[in-house]
Amino acid sequence: MSVVRTRFAPSPTGFLHIGGARTALFSWLHARKHGGPFVLRIEDTDRERSTQASVNAILEGMTWLGLDYDEGPFYQTERFDRYREVIQSLLEQGKAYRCYCTREELEALREEQMRLGIKPRYDGRYRDHDGPPREGVEPVIRFRNPLDGNVVFDDQIRGRIAISNTELDDLIIARSDGTPTYNFTVVVDDIDMNISHVIRGDDHINNTPRQINIFRALGHEPPVFGHVPMILGDDGKRLSKRHGAMSVMDYHDLGFLPEAVLNYLVRLGWSYGDQEVFSVDEMIEKFDISDVNKAASTFNTEKLLWLNHQYIMTGDPQHVARYLSPHMGRAGIDPSDGPTLTDLVVGLRERARTLVEMAEKSRCFYQEFDQYDEKAASKNFKPEAKPVLESLHTALSAVSPWSGETLHQAVQDTAEALDLKLGKVAQPLRVAAVGGPISPSIDVTLELLGRERTLARIQRAIHWIEQRQASASDS
Ligand code: GLU
Repeated sequence: MSVVRTRFAPSPTGFLHIGGARTALFSWLHARKHGGPFVLRIEDTDRERSTQASVNAILEGMTWLGLDYDEGPFYQTERFDRYREVIQSLLEQGKAYRCYCTREELEALREEQMRLGIKPRYDGRYRDHDGPPREGVEPVIRFRNPLDGNVVFDDQIRGRIAISNTELDDLIIARSDGTPTYNFTVVVDDIDMNISHVIRGDDHINNTPRQINIFRALGHEPPVFGHVPMILGDDGKRLSKRHGAMSVMDYHDLGFLPEAVLNYLVRLGWSYGDQEVFSVDEMIEKFDISDVNKAASTFNTEKLLWLNHQYIMTGDPQHVARYLSPHMGRAGIDPSDGPTLTDLVVGLRERARTLVEMAEKSRCFYQEFDQYDEKAASKNFKPEAKPVLESLHTALSAVSPWSGETLHQAVQDTAEALDLKLGKVAQPLRVAAVGGPISPSIDVTLELLGRERTLARIQRAIHWIEQRQASASDS
C-alpha cells in the first residue's frame, strides 16, 4: 500500500480562519488515520500580502487546536531556486514557452473576445514563436497546455470531474519579473514533498485540471484530490467577517475549549451516524474523507456552544481549569484569592457554557461585590431575616470540615430549628453570600466561598438589615 502524505498549505495573509482550520483538520485526520506524515507548507510567494504576523497567527491557531505537523513549515519563498530550475527544464523540453504579449495586447484580445461573445482566454499566439525575443518586452512564461483530450479525476468528495483541455488556456507559470505563480509552485511542491492526497477548499477546484496537466508534464501522476465545500453563515451566505468570529483564536478568546472547536469542525460537513461528540482518537478512527458532504455546511453557533458545554462538564476539571486560567486574568480576577480553579470548575461547570461565562460567574468568590441586587435584598432582607442570618452565622461557625455535605446539613438543621422551610433560610443566605438571587446550590456556593468569606458576608447582610431598620424608624 502506498504511503499517505498530506499537507496543509495556507497563504499567510491573515489569521487561521474557521474554514482553513477545518481543511487543516481533515487533512491532518486523513494523515493520522493512515499513519502517514502531515506536512505544513507556507505559501508566501505573494510577498505584498504575506506577513510574518500571519504565519505566527496560523501556527498559534494550529497549536491551540493540537494540529501538529511532522514536516515543515516549508516556505515557498525559500524555494525560488528550485522553481527556477524546473521552469528552465520545462522551457528546454518545449513544455513551456516565453510569451511576449504586452498588457495592452492582452487587454485588446480580451475586449475582442467579449465583443464576439466568447470566453476571454489567451489565444496561444506565442506558442509556436521561434523568432528572436521581442525587443523591450520582458516575457512571461506560459505552460503549454495540451490542446485536446480531457482532464479527468476522481475527487474523493465530489466524485468524477472531467474538463476538456479546450477549456484551459496556456497558464502563466512565471511572471515577467521571473517570480513563479501559484498553480505552478503548488505542483512542484506537491511533487517534491511527495504528497499523496491533496485536501483543500473547493475554491481551488478550477485550478485542479490545470495542475494535473503540469504534474504530467513534469512526469508525475497527480495525487488524489479531495475538495472540501465551503462554510456558510446562518444566513446562508459564505462565512465572512460579517458573521462575527472568524479566526480560530477568536474562539479561544470567547472561552471555547480547543477540543470543542475541533469536535465542532469535524462535524461541519462530516458525520458518523448520529454521533455528535468525538474524542480526537475517535475522530482519527472514524473519519473518512470520502464521507465528507458535497454540499456546503452551515455554521451554527448554538451547536458549538452546546458542544463546548459538554466538554466543560465532562472534561477533567484540572484540564478545564488550565484553560480557564487566562480568562480569569482577563476578567481582572486574581485566582489566588479564593477557591482553587479546579474546585471552581467543579462548582460552576453545569452553569457555564463558555470559560468567559465561568470566569464572570466566579467573581463573587474572589472579590467583594459592591451592592446587593436591589429586588433580591428587599425581598429577602426583611427584618425577620435578621434572626435567621444570625442563627446561620452561629451554625456555620461551628461547621467542620467545611464541605458541601456538612454545609448542607447545617443549613437544613437551622431551618428545622427555626421551623422554616428550607427556601426561607437558603435564599437570604444566598443573597448574603453572593449579593443576588442566583448562584449554584447553596452548599456548593458556600463551599467555594470558604468559611471566612461566608461568615463576613452574613455579618455584612445583618448589618445592612440593621441599618435599613434604623433609617426606617428615623423617618
Ligand atoms: N495556498 C492556498 C490557499 O491558502 C492553498 C493551496 C492548496 O491547498 O493547494 O488557499
